Amino acid sequence: MKFTDGYWLMREGVSAVYPAEILDASGGPGTLALRAPVVHVRHRGDLLKGPALTFECTAPMPDVVGVKITHFAGATDRGPWFPLAADPPETAGIVGTEHASLTSGALTVRFRQGAEAWRMEAVADGRVLTGTSARSTAYLTTPEGPHVREQLDLGVGTHVYGLGERFGPLVKNGQTVDVWNADGGTASEQAYKNVPFVLTDAGYGIFVNHPGHVSFEIGSENVSRLQFSVAGESLEYFVIYGPTPKEILRKYTALTGRPPLLPDWSFGLWLSTSFTTSYDEETVTSFIDGMAERDIPLSVFHFDCFWMKEFQWCDFTWDSRTFPDPAGMLKRLKDRGLRICLWINPYIAQASPLFAEGAALGHLLKRPDGSVWQWDHWQPGLAVVDFTNPGARAWYAGKLDALLEMGVDCFKTDFGERIPLDVAWHDGSDPERMHNYYAQLYNETVFDLLKERHGEGEAIVFARSATAGGQKFPVHWGGDCESTFAAMAEDLRGGLSLGLSGFGYWSHDIGGFEGTPDPELFKRWVAFGLLSSHSRLHGSHSYRVPWAFDEEAVDVLRHFTKLKERLMPYLREVAREAHEDGLPMMRPMMLEFPGDPACTHLERQYMLGSDLLVAPVFDPSGEVTYYVPEGEWTSVLGGGTVTGPRWITEVHDVMSLPLLARSGSVLP
Ligand code: BGC
Repeated sequence: MKFTDGYWLMREGVSAVYPAEILDASGGPGTLALRAPVVHVRHRGDLLKGPALTFECTAPMPDVVGVKITHFAGATDRGPWFPLAADPPETAGIVGTEHASLTSGALTVRFRQGAEAWRMEAVADGRVLTGTSARSTAYLTTPEGPHVREQLDLGVGTHVYGLGERFGPLVKNGQTVDVWNADGGTASEQAYKNVPFVLTDAGYGIFVNHPGHVSFEIGSENVSRLQFSVAGESLEYFVIYGPTPKEILRKYTALTGRPPLLPDWSFGLWLSTSFTTSYDEETVTSFIDGMAERDIPLSVFHFDCFWMKEFQWCDFTWDSRTFPDPAGMLKRLKDRGLRICLWINPYIAQASPLFAEGAALGHLLKRPDGSVWQWDHWQPGLAVVDFTNPGARAWYAGKLDALLEMGVDCFKTDFGERIPLDVAWHDGSDPERMHNYYAQLYNETVFDLLKERHGEGEAIVFARSATAGGQKFPVHWGGDCESTFAAMAEDLRGGLSLGLSGFGYWSHDIGGFEGTPDPELFKRWVAFGLLSSHSRLHGSHSYRVPWAFDEEAVDVLRHFTKLKERLMPYLREVAREAHEDGLPMMRPMMLEFPGDPACTHLERQYMLGSDLLVAPVFDPSGEVTYYVPEGEWTSVLGGGTVTGPRWITEVHDVMSLPLLARSGSVLP
């Protein structure tokens, strides 16, 4: 949200007040509280002027300080809230003559005392990480209602990353980002997974503790500030000290949750029916036979929406016209060592028998007048399951449980982004705060059921929507991309951005979703896909079996699937780092080489764990240009070594791509 009209003016209809000085401050165990009037107090008469803002600082864990800015404290707080872990250090707010401050571990947040211009600073190891100046922290009255805004200094040369899975440039400087889940594909500024967390290369991260709409202007509205704002009367954010990007992620995920371990089989190759293609048991069996005959190891078979009858999504019932014997079919597939994934979403179409059942039980989201909320997008008369209702959660999980009993192993938890605002949630939640958070309740419901049935480390969903903390319910994939090289690059940027937002695992539609890739693109995407954390062949109206492209595509898929199998001992360790430290398996170069400025903007290559550099080929000619950081590197596919730092341009045939092992690494 932009409030200004250039440096001097405000946008029409917008007015702002800013904290002027500390009037009183008090420190207690783990807290610091300040009251700041918005005019300087020169005489008693000034004490009667205008609002005052209160600041409350907390230390939820070492090296993390929360700052909560409040105007009216009486606003109803209906939730939801992000569940945050707490490991508070022993500390107390200090009110000194120069500053009022709170220290947590190595991080101090301090506010200047006295009548000089207002200033907050976050300081660590003797260095000011960031801070605010006069007229940066603000309470604003706007035509859209009240807002609270913070603006932190962006140091010269500071780069900002994160904010979820975003398909634009990896470095967010210069961008305006709405943290608001949307079903917008991979080619737009919208995102399925929005996370109000940014990570910088200047030693700190910022997490805005607000599950609703957060607007970020990163060196955009004010080109030297990191700005964020929320509607309402209060804004809370956490400053997270690193100093390294890895440490920032480790601490951010200690606060919001870490990815669990995932079953080994989930790292193997997944094949889907695709979406609108026609299929039945015979088609599925022919795909599986085809893969076996061609010696391509397959791990998971995925059934997209049409396993259920059209117009009835979801009813969680196999379409008997195409799948007359689902239990028998699942047994036949599972006897071949396959795991089974089924498509689901959190919506119930009017033609589904579950519509009347859910409505009668009160499990479907309602409008404020008590009627079931419905619309005609996606499915006629579609309704939304109200996961704030424990009864609805149990009801929904029960339907899935029957499928697990039948032999299904996991679910692709599709959708969950277009959550309406003109509604009344069962638990009284604020619709604006529930819009993004719904994805969490939906995926958590399914993930918890799988964990209960299969045990810790054995549960996995294949989710599209998420917000902060969604990393606890993996895996996530990038959503709907076109079958183009440009979309493949978009996808990679999205995955790297998500990895810098606390998510450990990530996947994408190999070959692209919309359209049919030409054989050249398919083969390059296969190489990238099998060097990703999770690897799934999926499309919309055409199949993704390799022989639909050409014989060489078969060889390429076999080659890279077997390569990934051989890398499993290494990948297992990388996954453990995701689980233990919150580090993504697919890592932007800046995460592994924070001291190398050449890595700042790299978004067409990545590190798979800390030892393998991967540079996917994004050009039909096979030409690829990539950067090799300092040290000696060994080519995994071609043999030979290369010494960095240097840029390399090479041409690779379809059986190859730059895949370099860092010196000293041991690849089992
Ligand atoms: C999902 C696809 C899915 C399709 C049908 C899309 O928007 O992202 O992966 O196949 O919906 O559910």
